[in-house]
Amino acid sequence: MTLSFVPLHLSRFWLRGLLALLLSFSSLAHARDYGEIQQQRIHHVLNQTETISEPEGRFKVRTLSAAGKVLGYVFQSLDVVDIPAYSGKPINVQVILDPAGVILDAYVLEHHEPILLIGIAEEKLHGFSARYSGIRVDQRVIVGHSSDPNAVTVDAIAGATVTAMVVNEVIMRAAHDVALSLGLVKGDSAVAVAPARVREDSYQAADWNTLVGNGSVRRLHLTRGQVDDSFKGTEAEQVEVASAGQRDDTFIDLYLTQLNPPSIGRNLLGETQYRTLMAALKPGEQAIAVMGSGRYSFKGSGYVRGGIFDRVVLRQFGDTISFRDLDFQRLDDVALDDMPAFDEMAIFIIRASHRFDPGSPWSLELLVRRQTGPVSGTFSSFELAYQLPEAYLERPLPSAAQLAAAEEASRPLWLTLWYQKSVEISVLGVALLVLTGILFFQDALARRPRLLHWVRRGYLLFTVVFLGGYGLAQLSVVNVLTFVHALFEGFRWELFLTDPLIFILWVFTAASILLWGRGVFCGWLCPFGALQELGNELARRFKVPQYELPFAVHERLWAIKYIILLALFGVSLESMATAERLAEVEPFKTAVTLRFDRQWWFVAYAAGLLLINLFTRKVYCRYICPLGAALAMPTRLRLFDWLKRRKECGNPCQLCAKECEIQAIHPDGRINANECHYCLDCQMTWHNENKCPPLINKRKKRGKASTTDAQLIPVVQVPPAP
Ligand code: SF4
Ligand code: SF4
Repeated sequence: MTLSFVPLHLSRFWLRGLLALLLSFSSLAHARDYGEIQQQRIHHVLNQTETISEPEGRFKVRTLSAAGKVLGYVFQSLDVVDIPAYSGKPINVQVILDPAGVILDAYVLEHHEPILLIGIAEEKLHGFSARYSGIRVDQRVIVGHSSDPNAVTVDAIAGATVTAMVVNEVIMRAAHDVALSLGLVKGDSAVAVAPARVREDSYQAADWNTLVGNGSVRRLHLTRGQVDDSFKGTEAEQVEVASAGQRDDTFIDLYLTQLNPPSIGRNLLGETQYRTLMAALKPGEQAIAVMGSGRYSFKGSGYVRGGIFDRVVLRQFGDTISFRDLDFQRLDDVALDDMPAFDEMAIFIIRASHRFDPGSPWSLELLVRRQTGPVSGTFSSFELAYQLPEAYLERPLPSAAQLAAAEEASRPLWLTLWYQKSVEISVLGVALLVLTGILFFQDALARRPRLLHWVRRGYLLFTVVFLGGYGLAQLSVVNVLTFVHALFEGFRWELFLTDPLIFILWVFTAASILLWGRGVFCGWLCPFGALQELGNELARRFKVPQYELPFAVHERLWAIKYIILLALFGVSLESMATAERLAEVEPFKTAVTLRFDRQWWFVAYAAGLLLINLFTRKVYCRYICPLGAALAMPTRLRLFDWLKRRKECGNPCQLCAKECEIQAIHPDGRINANECHYCLDCQMTWHNENKCPPLINKRKKRGKASTTDAQLIPVVQVPPAP
């Protein structure tokens, strides 16, 4: 096997020009006004709506109301999440929620999905989004099937699974985020694991310093200077300001602990007081102790008047827990000798209704209020964070179902798709390994033409049936345009990972182009190319006459596909949507993705190309295919030339040139790698002692008869078209 390095010809000037053009692109779409349709949807779902507020908050949510009563909320998903769909552009959905966090309507306002622009009827997309009516925002919705019995499943849009998965992600994530921000729902309960339990069986004697040292007791020390600084720039800046000499004086020295663990509670309160306290707690309740000294009282006097402690609140998971006088117990006696004396101490009970998790971090917020007028005041808050040491906790192990659900819920969309297509991915992986093996052992196979013919037919059948028919894995020039645009508009891997088969094929194709040229894809992995090749072979079997153009004409017609590619690229600079429409010059969507189930003119075009192919092999590939042109351009960069030639090739021998059924061999014997589809026919001839004229001459000279029966490649001599 000979290796030769091909010189790299890449015009830097051309690239710079391209770059400059690309940099002038406009950026991603943003939520905007879509006119009548937005109002129509609102009145269709909530026809009693009287007022629609202005967009409010970070997610620009409008409140829908009637007679002062809130009926629901409406927003555009693009104001909440920006998830690229198959086209690389986000899908914008208008979602209407009711005040209980149930989706009332989800309507796709804008998308750029190529398959839906021309192909699958748009009603199918609207039909799909309509299935979200009645689903709660905190439910898990899976497109297809799920092992989670609690998940809601919706059927995908046939032929547009990736788009359906993106729409699902867009609606559910946006609706959940908005509902959370509006307080309509709490955190993700669908996959929540049960809270930790405080271990009541573990006790270790400990003194105050030990408890402070191991994190059982936490401290917040504030000086007067720190508090003054926190009011800077507010109305209360000058209220009760400390003098320079007082700035380091203690404002408050606050200590905090959780009392349920025996190693804390029993040590701090003493055996009797601890038992009494624990006996008074109802299931799910927790007790904390707050102790403070200094000039500021954490209790204040508000609770005496209003029954609520207004200087301390507890926060966990974004929830706020305030304490009432009923939650308060005096703490006078403590059992630790080395504990400092405090001005005030209190026990607060966290009621079970707050669903407090003793094993998760929480904090006590100290509110410092300064009076700025007879009834007005300004607050400054300070946080004392707390996390119970792990030794006091017992964490329930999540069940396998919970773990699976949590893992499934936290997976990014593209990974979910990879999981769902793991069988197809494995089959494709094996097929690509086989193809790599064929390429590496191409000489050995070319010496056995009958075997190679069957291997190739089998592979082409696999490409048509599995890659095309089943996996819909047909690369397209639209992928190329999307990729180039993505490079300059913000490249995101997930944009390309959402279709695993297409992604793997692209990775393999890119590598094979750099190693051997575009022929590996076009000759082996393109479903439409394989369909043409098998169709032509069948036609020749039935003796359908074959026609070829004279090489000079054929060579000039090659340019057409490059012109089409450049035209598509130019149009895409102005409008990607238009370029996607024009990319219908590719019959792939009709023949492969939609299996000829679409408007007659598309079917006629694709069928016409297949019909012409019966008389002249791969006419579409040779002259029209913009994807083939895009793949041919970097073919010049390939590292290897493994297709063998002799010095007699072209002069005088023309056998391979006539045999090559896509006329990729120049009359002078050179193989044009930009056009070659790597079918290996010419290599079978090259190795055939009974067919390759220079080899026959050599054999004759050696005066030896061939030792093997000839396995001749049937040569079809076709007259040039007039
Ligand atoms: S030229 Fe186009 S249709 Fe033909 S095999 Fe290559 S990519 Fe497929
Ligand atoms: S016959 Fe040879 S040159 Fe022609 S497409 Fe096949 S491998 Fe390429």
